[in-house]
Amino acid sequence: MTRFQAPRPTDSLGTGMTSQRARDRLLERLKAQGIVDARVLEVIGRVPRHLFVDEALASRAYEDTALPIGLGQTISQPYVVALMTQALLRDGAPDKVLEIGTGSGYQAAVLSLLCREVHTVERIDELLRQARKRFRRLGYRNIRSKHDDGNIGWREHAPFDALIVTAAREALEPALLEQVAPGGIAVAPLGPVGQQTLVRMQRGTDGWSRENLGAVSFVPLVRGVL
Ligand code: SAH
Repeated sequence: MTRFQAPRPTDSLGTGMTSQRARDRLLERLKAQGIVDARVLEVIGRVPRHLFVDEALASRAYEDTALPIGLGQTISQPYVVALMTQALLRDGAPDKVLEIGTGSGYQAAVLSLLCREVHTVERIDELLRQARKRFRRLGYRNIRSKHDDGNIGWREHAPFDALIVTAAREALEPALLEQVAPGGIAVAPLGPVGQQTLVRMQRGTDGWSRENLGAVSFVPLVRGVL
């Protein structure tokens, strides 16, 4: 005779002790690496990164490492997400942000808790579908997403207070940069594979100022849609 066993309460939203400990460890590590913005740390502690990767990788979701998300793409390393978000928020949280390269949706989710509106563009339809499911499930309602080549931005919703590009190219299209409002910020990895630098740019009255934030490694920003 088999005895009926009540199902164990599941922890699908990751509020259990184990993942809380893992998240706390991650936050300590980010602080040790120079992430000082309390808003950024708080949000990274709150967004369940394990729901943005395949179940088989969920146990590694709070390690400070990039992980594969299928179709040859990766979810960025938490340190890099934190660094880019901190750079974007330095002069105050932008109201309206454009992200190029939705991927898993994790960076967009982090931004959605810090900014009023997030717009995000992804070229791979299958990845975008999965990201949208996550946004719905987790109740991130201020994220709008589009399946398109992000090199052209999202003109209908421009201007943006900030632009974040999460895939690398030698230089961004002028048409994309033009969608950033005067005074606005752009954060992007620039340079060829193996030699990328994370750059923070600010749009001034006569052009862009530029500051380097260090070496990074991103998948390439390519052209066209899949
Ligand atoms: N921000 C993501 C990580 C992105 S990985 C996250 O938090 O998970 C980079 C993503 O950029 C990939 O999903 C890739 O498909 C996408 N990408 C590359 N070129 C693109 C383009 N031209 N337009 C839109 N997305 C692009």
